[in-house]
Formats: sequence, C-alpha cells, structure tokens
Amino acid sequence: MNIDTLAVHLGREIEAYTGAVTPSITLATTFQRATDGTFPEGKDVYTRASNPNRNALERTVAALENGTVGIAFGSGMAAANALLMALGSGDHILLPDDLYHGVRYASQDVFARWGLQTSFVDMTDANNIANALRPNTKLVWVETPSNPLLKIADIRRASELAHQAGALCVCDNTWATPILSRPLDLGCDVVWHSTTKYFGGHSDVLGGIVVARDENGEFIQRVRQYQMLGGGVPSPFDCWLLSRSIPTMPHRVRIATATANKIAQFLNNDSRVSAVHYPGLPSHPGHVIAKAQMCDWGAMLSFEVAGGQPAALAITGKIKVFTHATSLGGVESLLEHRASGEGPISRTPPGLLRVSIGLESAEDLIADLDQALG
Ligand code: PLP
Repeated sequence: MNIDTLAVHLGREIEAYTGAVTPSITLATTFQRATDGTFPEGKDVYTRASNPNRNALERTVAALENGTVGIAFGSGMAAANALLMALGSGDHILLPDDLYHGVRYASQDVFARWGLQTSFVDMTDANNIANALRPNTKLVWVETPSNPLLKIADIRRASELAHQAGALCVCDNTWATPILSRPLDLGCDVVWHSTTKYFGGHSDVLGGIVVARDENGEFIQRVRQYQMLGGGVPSPFDCWLLSRSIPTMPHRVRIATATANKIAQFLNNDSRVSAVHYPGLPSHPGHVIAKAQMCDWGAMLSFEVAGGQPAALAITGKIKVFTHATSLGGVESLLEHRASGEGPISRTPPGLLRVSIGLESAEDLIADLDQALG
C-alpha cells in the first residue's frame, strides 16, 4: 500500500466494541491479571511496559519505516539515550561532525563518563568513516541531512562500512522522515526520530522513537529493555496526539518541502546571503547522493549572512511571519540563530540561521525574509 494510505489507517483501526472511528485514549496505568496469577497473553500489563496507544504508535511508525519493531520514548533525546545505553563501557561509536548538538553533548559528556569512546568525522566522505572505524566500533551513527548544516551522508555506504567492521548503522531520520527517505531500505539497521518534529507536526507534543529492521537483534532487545527499565516512555495522550498527526504527515512534509525549494532558490539568488545549505540546490555538495536516497529535498534549510552573529540576530529581530524559535517540523515556519542556542560546544558558523518551513504561503515567507534581510 502507498505510504499515504498507510499513514491514515495504521494504528487507527475501528474499535470493535464502540465502532469509534477515532481511537480512544487508554489512561489506565495497570490492567487486570488472570485469576491464576498469570498475565493474559497479548494483553497489556502496566503502562510503562506497554499501553494500547503506545502500541498503536509503535506499530505505525515501524511500518512507515519498513521496520519490524518500534520503541517509543518521551522525547527524541530519550530515544537517543536508549541507543547509547544499549552500548557497553569501552565501546566506540562513530558520529558525524555536524549533528544535533544534544547527541554530541550526551555521547561526549554523559556517556564518556561511562566509558563510551566517540569519534566525530565528516561523513560526507565515506573514506572518513572507513578510516575512523576501530575494532571496538559498535555503531556508525548517521544523521542526514545533518543539523544544522544539511550535510549529506551516503546511508548505503555507511551501512556497508559499519557491517564490514561488525558494527551496526543507526540513522537519525528526523529531518527526512519516512516520507522522503527510508534508511532501513538502504541497509541501515536502526532508525530513530524525534517525533516532536514532523510526526507531531504542531509543536505541541514531545516524543521519540527507535525503529529496527530485526526485532530479535541483541542491540534492539537492549533498547526495548531500557525502555521498560529506564521508564522514559510517552504518555498515552502524547501517543494519541502523535497518532492523530501522522495521517497528515505525508502532505505536510510535501507542501513544506515544495515551499522550502522556492525559499532556497530565493536565498541562493540574493546577494545579501553568503551561503545557502539545502541539498536541493545543484551546487550543494551532497546533491547527487541526496537525490539517490531521498525522494525530495526536505523542508529544512540553513543560510549564512556576512557579519556573523550581530548580522544574523538583526534578521531574527525583523521577521514577522517566521518566529525566532528552536525546533522544527511544525505547521508554522521557524527561524533560529543556532550558534547562540547550542552553547560552548557549538561548531555552527555564527552567521548561520536555521529555517524550518511550515505551511504558510511561499510568497509570504519570501516577502518576510526579503524585508528582514533589509
Ligand atoms: N534529532 C534531531 C535531528 C533534532 O533536530 C532534535 C531536536 O531538535 C532531536 C534529535 C532531539 O529531539 P527532542 O527535542 O525530541 O528530544
């Protein structure tokens, strides 16, 4: 079935008892056990372990990603932490030099204290991955397009290199979404998302999810165990909100992507802008690889202005349709000065503004950028 149809129907089956077309929210934290003391087969026991709304969300996202298992968390970072928790002391993990800064902090700071070894490489060149692999490398962590520079890594090649080294390949697919790219189909083992972004789509729910191709793998079993024992699970209402937003996700992503294309063209032709990072531009260094592994370029872009932080912040002070705020993937367009939000470990150019395109008209967004560039 087409992904648009799946997004509408998965996890939203008609309720047998009530006939309700929209799923109910099961707020119960605990469920009845059998009189013989057993837990009824296939039924929920306790909401930290499983819950009808979470089960539906996990099944849906797993299917959209062509995976066999989904494991939902209370935020994207809780999902990332579960992946890192599934590693052991002394393990090595290879990450991109440009990636969501929270993962950089967690792996480099929190998990280094538990003995995790990290290397950060420019994954736009697969040779850098090959050269940085070690005998104890357990994960090659890909984020493509990357946050905030929209660097493109070759998912198929990264997976092959990981497998040759006896490691797994994990991809943060938050920006592309399964609507534009399905890393599991390209050889990747595990995909994860901040569902706070395009899955939620309305900037009103935090969430994260891990999806794996093989639900029986030792690594993914540890992630599942950590979901239960770590307890960072989403509430039934959060799961319900996500399930409510998924049917419109394909359309939201496509409309926002079409607008992002127009905005990237506008910025690219404007002499007040010194650089535009958008894989849809033929001049982007990752254009060819992105074309091979994505069915469109996505609704995220970033651009730079000469004059560094003061010049960039002057723009954030003038925008009217965009909002100066962090996050992405919502119906409203956001623009953010990243370097000042990322803190001392930031590697982001000071004159860079990250843009999340929403569902407003392209003409209004372009007019807003035009006046703000002043
Ligand atoms: N991954 C990417 C690519 C992100 O952009 C973000 C947040 O901006 C996260 C992960 C973290 O997700 P959350 O904020 O839901 O914890």
